[in-house]
Amino acid sequence: MNLHEYQSKQLFARYGIPVPNGLVASNGAEAADAARKLGGAKWVVKAQVHAGGRGKAGGVKLVDSPEAASEATEKMIGQRLHTHQTGPEGLPIHQVFVEQGSKIDRELYVSLVLNRDKGHVAFIVSPAGGMDIEEVAAHTPEKLIRVNVHPAAGLQDSQCRVMGFGLGLKGDQIKQFTKIAQALYKLYLDTDCSLVEINPLIVTGDKLVALDAKINIEDNALFRQKEIAGWRDASQEDEMERVAAQHELNYVSLDGNIACMVNGAGLAMATMDVIQLHGGSPANFLDVGGGATKERVSTAFNLILSNPKVKAILVNIFGGIVRCDMIAEGIIAAVKDVGVKVPVVVRIEGTNAEQGRKLLSESGLAVIAAKDLTEAAKKVVASAKK
Ligand code: ADP
Ligand code: MG
Repeated sequence: MNLHEYQSKQLFARYGIPVPNGLVASNGAEAADAARKLGGAKWVVKAQVHAGGRGKAGGVKLVDSPEAASEATEKMIGQRLHTHQTGPEGLPIHQVFVEQGSKIDRELYVSLVLNRDKGHVAFIVSPAGGMDIEEVAAHTPEKLIRVNVHPAAGLQDSQCRVMGFGLGLKGDQIKQFTKIAQALYKLYLDTDCSLVEINPLIVTGDKLVALDAKINIEDNALFRQKEIAGWRDASQEDEMERVAAQHELNYVSLDGNIACMVNGAGLAMATMDVIQLHGGSPANFLDVGGGATKERVSTAFNLILSNPKVKAILVNIFGGIVRCDMIAEGIIAAVKDVGVKVPVVVRIEGTNAEQGRKLLSESGLAVIAAKDLTEAAKKVVASAKK
């Protein structure tokens, strides 16, 4: 689950990580009020969306009066922000974060992620902050410093100094950085993060301040992060993925026009690959799970059909735990209930496959049968092109 910048900064503040003072606003009047309450002569109005790259996309505006803060806010609220991280649809702006403007001497990059190979939480830091870290990694990889934290030993102050010197910090700044790094590590563990990123962590005078903040929380741990789970902003999430999650279907929206319904994540991946191999493009990843029932098949059909881009459907079921005749009944019921108007290609194999195919062919529905995955993929790609 993603957090907004203002929520991430709220957590930072609790852990003693310095952040600029800021207030959330959802209209111009609130933004002007916020600027007055915060005081000072310069403010920044920042669109709150679940994506980075806002600066370059017009989602971060520097202003020098409460009136200008109000104006900038009115321009943003209700719009969709398109950054290189959002995709062409963009994300809706419902709130802005009004912050005191900081004088920036240097911009640094600091993040914590899980190093899955080692099973350690890892810091990635760089003196080249403020820009895309992927760019830095691609063109100047020597500017990235990686530090793995051993779970038993915890983060050592010596490791913090290595990072601090690598960031070009000196004297008291190294002490501040050590405090920030220790706090970040604690925050990462306490709140079950999968990512914490500060880009940029700035040097302003002799102080370090987190100017941006991004936190992702591990979904599987949300049950024990009740407060944070309550901060979820569904308006920033893919509507179909949200509905799928409610029905415990593993679903990911994609750009193509061939919807897939498969049991098992591995088979679902293979199915998408074979569609691609034959010149098609999948509209989604969908694993209905090993315990696929008639109802789940029906729900899954409804879900994939709610995507207007879908031109054809490929059902690929291997009846290992599930019975193919039962899946066939589910497909027939769903096609009748939902009123499917696009071609449906079905490949079923395994337990009771024969009975399943018989049910489909006798159903009177325009379901296209395929005997193996290659044939199914070819047929569905051809159907989608018509
Ligand atoms: P994003 O990463 O989505 O582009 P950031 O929060 O990193 O958004 O802001 C983009 C840039 O805007 C920063 O790199 C910084 O230069 C500037 N900026 C952001 N917040 C402030 C602030 N409070 N004061 C001054 N400049 C800021
Ligand atoms: Mg940033």
